[in-house]
Amino acid sequence: MRRVLSLVLIVFLFVLLLVACTPAPYSAVLCGKMNTDVLITLYSNGADKSADELIAACEDLLDEAEQALSRTDAAAELARVNANMETTVTLSDTLADMLRLSLSLSRETSGAFDPTAGALSVLYDITGDTHLPPDPDALAAAKATVDYTALALEGNTLSRPVGTVLDFGAIAKGHLAAVLVDYLLAEGVSGGVLSLGGNVAVFGEKPNGKPFRVAVRAPEGGYLGELALSGNTYVSTSGAYERFRVGTDGVTYHHIFDPATGKPADSGLASVTVVSRDGARADALSTALYVMGYDAAISFWEKAGRNFDMILVREDGEVFVTPDLTFEAA
Ligand code: AMP
Ligand code: MG
Repeated sequence: MRRVLSLVLIVFLFVLLLVACTPAPYSAVLCGKMNTDVLITLYSNGADKSADELIAACEDLLDEAEQALSRTDAAAELARVNANMETTVTLSDTLADMLRLSLSLSRETSGAFDPTAGALSVLYDITGDTHLPPDPDALAAAKATVDYTALALEGNTLSRPVGTVLDFGAIAKGHLAAVLVDYLLAEGVSGGVLSLGGNVAVFGEKPNGKPFRVAVRAPEGGYLGELALSGNTYVSTSGAYERFRVGTDGVTYHHIFDPATGKPADSGLASVTVVSRDGARADALSTALYVMGYDAAISFWEKAGRNFDMILVREDGEVFVTPDLTFEAA
């Protein structure tokens, strides 16, 4: 009996020791970056730099990216390129790389994701207060500028029709999540979670060796369920519910546009979540598949060789989850 008791005591002390040795996660919120709040959790810091230094370096990377990629900050390079009336402009490496990656995803999605959709973001002004519905002539003029096939990018030299408005709102946050993950891993951080408005990244390992658990929001509010993920994985969700405004015609206008119509996508989907090892691809695909709709999204996934995972939620409540995901419905 005494032997059993001492065994129990040893096991108890061992568990206590494990708990005491598991480093507490370090979390920080960087407000107002890339039009959202960025949450950074470092589960264990095996790096030479302190957690505060790592977070400060992440903030610098985000600020640098914003100075290149923001459409709405007049001082940013992208805003200056959009305002430039020359047909040919020279881009920084950051902007040229972002555009090159975007164009390849536009080709892959047959233009459902199109970085020239910026004129539609300006026209509908979902986060502002211009009159909705838009004037039909203004809609036709804006739609006429949406065409990724009209761009030519050679090295850092971009030629485009004057009036093209580039917008990386559908890809930049996923791309930046990957930039931060690469940085943190290179610094020796052993694991963590990042969240950039609709884009979550899990990387490395948790100290307890268990999978990362990421909640997926339900379009109508609350949670659809929970994903169990290993690092390094990116989860990106797109949905009309994220940003919308009601016009004087009583119609709800949202922020994901169908380049084929120039109007907010009306594909019958309420939300799309993409899970991928590639952050930029997860982000661009969640937007593109939302535009495509349920059947086309499933065909796209098959044609892509099932090389990503996804959760589709239809407006009628039907949910499709790709079989390789570990997903626990709420
Ligand atoms: P996301 O939340 O990742 O789906 O991205 C939506 C944002 O991407 C919008 O706020 C616009 O700035 C931009 N956008 C909207 N529609 C498209 C589209 N079809 N292709 C590329 N970017 C788009
Ligand atoms: Mg996206």
